[in-house]
Amino acid sequence: MNEDYDEELLTDITPDVLRVLNNHSFFARLDDLFCPADGSSPAAVCHGNFQSSTALLVDLGFEAAPIADVHEVLHYLGGCCDCEVLYNVAEESRLKAKYWRARASGSAAPAKDSQMNS
Ligand SMILES: [Zn+2]
Repeated sequence: MNEDYDEELLTDITPDVLRVLNNHSFFARLDDLFCPADGSSPAAVCHGNFQSSTALLVDLGFEAAPIADVHEVLHYLGGCCDCEVLYNVAEESRLKAKYWRARASGSAAPAKDSQMNS
């Protein structure tokens, strides 16, 4: 994490950053890229970075400094690349729903429940 950002700053700006991103339908647009609703365009592939998120923010008119803030907030919330933003930061996304639908219909039960000790 960039040392210009401490946890206090991040906790301060996170709600506002999320509000702005939601106002721009940022998560819905990112979801459209990675899980196109109508299947007419090929789904984007995550390169383990913020490539698509950054392109989207530039499209939405954000400049370099605010984009750096957004990246730090996404990191802070557990999204370290484009797909993790949809899995960990977005409240809902088709990508996440699709993942869990596939998990639920698969024969293998998720291991984490059976490993829990009471
Ligand atoms: Zn990813």
